[in-house]
Amino acid sequence: MKIPDRITVSSRRRFIRQSGALFAAFAFPFRLIEYLKSNPMETHTHFDIIIVGGSYSGLAAGMALGRSLRKVLIIDSNKPCNRQTPYSHNFITQDGKPPAEIAATARQQVEKYDTVHFFSGLATSGSKTSDGFEIGVASGETFHAKKVIFATGIHDIMPDIEGYAECWGISVLHCPYCHGYEVRNEKTGILANGDQGFEFTALISNWTKDLTLFTNGKSTLTKQQAATLAKRNIRVNEDIIDRLEHNNGHLTHIVFKSGTIAPMTALYAHSTFEQHCHIPETLGCEITSEGYIKTDPLQKTSIPGIYACGDNTTKLRTVSNAVAMGTFAGMVANKEMVLEGFK
Ligand SMILES: Cc1cc2nc3c(=O)[nH]c(=O)nc-3n(C[C@H](O)[C@H](O)[C@H](O)COP(=O)(O)OP(=O)(O)OC[C@H]3O[C@@H](n4cnc5c(N)ncnc54)[C@H](O)[C@@H]3O)c2cc1C
Repeated sequence: MKIPDRITVSSRRRFIRQSGALFAAFAFPFRLIEYLKSNPMETHTHFDIIIVGGSYSGLAAGMALGRSLRKVLIIDSNKPCNRQTPYSHNFITQDGKPPAEIAATARQQVEKYDTVHFFSGLATSGSKTSDGFEIGVASGETFHAKKVIFATGIHDIMPDIEGYAECWGISVLHCPYCHGYEVRNEKTGILANGDQGFEFTALISNWTKDLTLFTNGKSTLTKQQAATLAKRNIRVNEDIIDRLEHNNGHLTHIVFKSGTIAPMTALYAHSTFEQHCHIPETLGCEITSEGYIKTDPLQKTSIPGIYACGDNTTKLRTVSNAVAMGTFAGMVANKEMVLEGFK
C-alpha cells in the first residue's frame, strides 16, 4: 500500500492502524479486502474536500471541517505572505507573536483531527470531474474531492527598488493596524501618489506627525490635497528613489537618484499583487476587477463546489479576518455536503 511520504502526521496514525490491519491480514486475508473496501479513503487520493493553502485561512477551514468529521486534504507550499515579518499584531490572543508561531499552533490544533491529512507541496492544476474536482501537485500526484476551498493568499510584487524586498514586512509596511504602533512617532515615509497617497498619508498621520509623502516622480496630488498636507507640515518629496539603505531589513535612509538622502525609520507602501495560485481562474472562478477571487457572503465562488477565503478574496488583510473567513468557508462547505447527501 503506497503511502505518499508528504502526507504527514495524521497519516502516521493511519499508517500504524494500517500496519495492524496488514498484520491481521496475514492471518485473515479476507479481512484486508473488507478493510480496504470499507475504507476507500485509505487510498489517500479521494477526500470529501481539498483545501489548497494551509496557512491561517486554510487551517481555520480545516479545523471546521475536521470537527465536522470530514475527510480533508490540506495542500500547502508554505509560503505565507507575512513570512518575513518578525512579529504579527492586532489579532487578539496572538498579539506580538512571530507569524510562524501562530501558524504552528494552528497546525498542531488541526492535526488533532485524524480525518485531516496534510500534503506539503504546490498544487499546480485543477479540473472538474463527474463528481467533483481533481487537483494535481507539482510532484505528479493527483487528488480528488467533492469540493475545493482555495485559501491561497496573494503574492506581493516587489517594485524594482533595491532594498525594498529586504525591508518588506520589517520596516517597509503595508498596514498601520499591523505595525503602526511599533513605529509611532518615528520618522516615517509613505510611498504613494495622487488620491491614494493623500488618503494613505491622512491615515498614517494618526500614528506620527513626522511624515513625508514620497511620490517617486511628479506629484499628482490636487492643489487642495497639497495645501492640506502643507498646512499639517507634511512634506511632499518628488525625487526618484534609487535605493533603500537598511540594516537587516531595518530602514536607515532613502537614497535618491539625485544623490540626496532622507533618513527614515519606516516607509509605508502598497505593493501591487497577483493571485498566489491561478488554479481558481483556470477552473472558471470569476475574478474581480481589483484582482480578488469573487465570492458571495458565504465564501462561495462563481463555480459551484469551489469556495475561497482569506487574502485571495479581500482587501481586508489581517490574520484574524483570514481565520474568520476560513472558519466560515469550512462550515458552509460542510453544510452543503450534508444537505446534498440528506435525501
Ligand atoms: C509583510 C506582511 C505583514 C503582515 N503583518 C500582519 C500583522 O501584523 N497582523 C495581521 O493581522 N496581519 C498581517 N498581515 C496580513 C496577514 O499576513 C494575511 O492577512 C494572512 O497571512 C492571510 O492568510 P491567508 O491564509 O489568506 O494567506 P497566506 O497566509 O498568505 O497563506 C497562503 C498559503 O497558501 C499557500 N499556497 C498558495 N498557492 C498554493 C498552491 N498552488 N499550492 C499549495 N499551497 C499554496 C501558500 O504557500 C501559503 O502557505 C501581514 C501581511 C504582510 C504581507
